[in-house]
Amino acid sequence: MAEERWEKITGWKLTGFGLGLAAFLGLLLASEPGFVFGLDHANLLFHEAGHPIVGLFNNRLETYGGTLGQLTFPVLLAISFWRQGRVLGLAAAGIWFFENWLNIARYMADARALELPLVGGGDHDWNTIFTRWHVLSYDTDIAGTLRCLAWAGMATMVGWVGWRCWRDRQRPDNTESF
Ligand SMILES: [Zn+2]
Repeated sequence: MAEERWEKITGWKLTGFGLGLAAFLGLLLASEPGFVFGLDHANLLFHEAGHPIVGLFNNRLETYGGTLGQLTFPVLLAISFWRQGRVLGLAAAGIWFFENWLNIARYMADARALELPLVGGGDHDWNTIFTRWHVLSYDTDIAGTLRCLAWAGMATMVGWVGWRCWRDRQRPDNTESF
């Protein structure tokens, strides 16, 4: 049955997830907007790795490689957890994915201002991309929309965990070993 696709969430695991989530939110709110200490250092690393990797295949797409790079790892993790039916792992990977959008939005919003210090001092990705798309004057609007979607995405992940917990309570106890 479809219900057995997902692991049952034990109290201990849920406690761990809740503590992790609280620590994450605390860090997020204490950080400068769009740059969470530690997490966004990792995201930046994947971003910088993404450029040359995509650049190997296509020069023009290299500009997008950074953003693709920083989204790739949470997506791969999410797929892996999804295949294993691990609810909390998938939710955590999903939250990481959407947190990345806040970081991307910060970079987008800087497309005209050009104030962020850039690693390697190269081109400004979003100045290049938005200029290419002829939407440079909407940079902060697009960034604002992405930020809203990021929060909605993270909230959806948390809501889904709540839904899974509620469904678990509806399951007969003897399904645990299935
Ligand atoms: Zn970049």
